[in-house]
Amino acid sequence: MYEKSLNDKKNFLKNGLKEYSIKRNFDFGPSARSNTSNLSKYISHRIINEYELVNDVLKDHSFKSTEKFIQEIFWRVYWKGWLEHRPKVWTDFLVAKPNYDKQCYEDALNSNTGIECFDEWVDELKNENYLHNHTRMWFASIWIFTLNLPWQLGARFFMKHLFDGDAASNTLSWRWVAGIQTKGKNYIARSSNIKKFTNNRYSNIVLNEDAATLEDDKFYEIQEIKNLYTSKKNESLVLFESDLSIFQREDLFSSYENIYLLFLENEERNIKLSENTLNFKKNLLESFKEKVTKAEFISSSDFFSLNPNLDIIYPSVGENMDFLKRSELNTDKLHFIAKKEDLFCWQFAKKGFFNFKKNIPSIIKFLSHKGNLLE
Ligand SMILES: Cc1cc2nc3c(=O)[nH]c(=O)nc-3n(C[C@H](O)[C@H](O)[C@H](O)COP(=O)(O)OP(=O)(O)OC[C@H]3O[C@@H](n4cnc5c(N)ncnc54)[C@H](O)[C@@H]3O)c2cc1C
Repeated sequence: MYEKSLNDKKNFLKNGLKEYSIKRNFDFGPSARSNTSNLSKYISHRIINEYELVNDVLKDHSFKSTEKFIQEIFWRVYWKGWLEHRPKVWTDFLVAKPNYDKQCYEDALNSNTGIECFDEWVDELKNENYLHNHTRMWFASIWIFTLNLPWQLGARFFMKHLFDGDAASNTLSWRWVAGIQTKGKNYIARSSNIKKFTNNRYSNIVLNEDAATLEDDKFYEIQEIKNLYTSKKNESLVLFESDLSIFQREDLFSSYENIYLLFLENEERNIKLSENTLNFKKNLLESFKEKVTKAEFISSSDFFSLNPNLDIIYPSVGENMDFLKRSELNTDKLHFIAKKEDLFCWQFAKKGFFNFKKNIPSIIKFLSHKGNLLE
């Protein structure tokens, strides 16, 4: 999988990047995906690391000519940082019990709404485990404003099937479409926009194009990010599938006596994943094990019998962190290792993306150490 991700990355940087900014918004269908990178399934598990990717882009291209692509990568970093500062947004999403029309929900899950594009996207989501970004926006908007279904159920449906399903990008994007992330500004899918950006594949789709934004009066106080470290403390390390980055970690890995890979089965997850998605994640862990031969799988029950003086690659807000919090372990004894780049970037993620974006040049300087990647 690491080799395949390298090839896919190389191909995109060579052939797709040049026209990315003008073509990225088009969804030409599942058999024509070369106008965006399709790297999200690797990036979300850090088989490809965001910062490594930005560096790779800037090795051969100017910042100006690749700004749009770099910005998209940083959307992911931004969402992660934003949620780290407000982890309760994730837990509130998980515990929400909204009312909904059961038949309408079943019809949506079974591609039976009669909205042609939507029904096809449901099949695509289940079969390809991917949807184009613009399509995710239309899908979420139709789910919330035309089908009147709760955004939380749609976000769960995405997490179940997407190979790139990510607590931050997914939850916050659904909130954004609903109009509760940027309060009062919802995203309305329009038939004319769908027609244009699907290259006329879908036209005259009847949608509710006049919907009011959802409201949510909850206020989330910003929490400081603490107890994350950048160097080792103990002799055993645990990793989850949410961060399998090997980039710049060879020395770190070789310094441990034991490396354990912990994979949560559906019984231990709040959101049950499809078989495809579970298998995809397991394969990623297998690939990691081939690369880092010292690593061995450990079951969740055996994990609890380990000496609790453990280092853990920080899994960030999401299922794996929830598992650790639910455990009997004294989480104060756990030593979480984060990437210094994450810690640097997340300090800018307390407010809106506009504010984060202003800091991208200083982030790139930080990544390059000398600042010469911006030339
Ligand atoms: C409702 C909704 C739900 C989403 N759920 C997820 C999710 O669970 N996981 C996920 O990785 N992305 C999610 N996204 C963001 C985005 O749709 C995907 O990252 C993108 O479609 C992946 O395709 P790509 O790799 O070809 O992207 P490219 O356009 O090639 O972008 C390169 C990389 O930048 C990052 N990226 C691009 N756009 C975004 C974005 N809007 N937000 C965050 N990161 C971005 C991804 O890591 C992506 O691989 C969601 C968007 C919406 C609107």
